Amino acid sequence: MTKLTKRQIVQIHEKCLNLVKRKPAEFFQFRKMNKYEGSCNWTDIEIDHRRELLSTAYHECVHYIYPNYSESMVKYIEKRLVNVCDPFEISYFLKLLANKLYKSEFQKYILKHKNLKNKFKNKTKKIT
Ligand SMILES: [Zn+2]
Repeated sequence: MTKLTKRQIVQIHEKCLNLVKRKPAEFFQFRKMNKYEGSCNWTDIEIDHRRELLSTAYHECVHYIYPNYSESMVKYIEKRLVNVCDPFEISYFLKLLANKLYKSEFQKYILKHKNLKNKFKNKTKKIT
């Protein structure tokens, strides 16, 4: 497996930042998973919010950016990202990701409650 320099890791971090910036909120989802901490489906990135949030987010971003990289290579980059990158840069990544996740979960929340409201409306209609 090829080892990467700090400079290369910082460049990958830049790519992760750009990915979170350019993708719409729905691209990032929270989901409980049994076997995995996260998943990268090419249409979206899912993260189990009960697990290591930061590392999982980096892991899935790296899968998305480098689809040909092996699982062990992705794991190596994930570990290097959290070790090598500046905490300020990491916090910026987290901030952007949190914003997207919030918007994404908020949309789901609204939809869920809208459906509940409609169900209730329909029921009351049937009664009257
Ligand atoms: Zn993986």
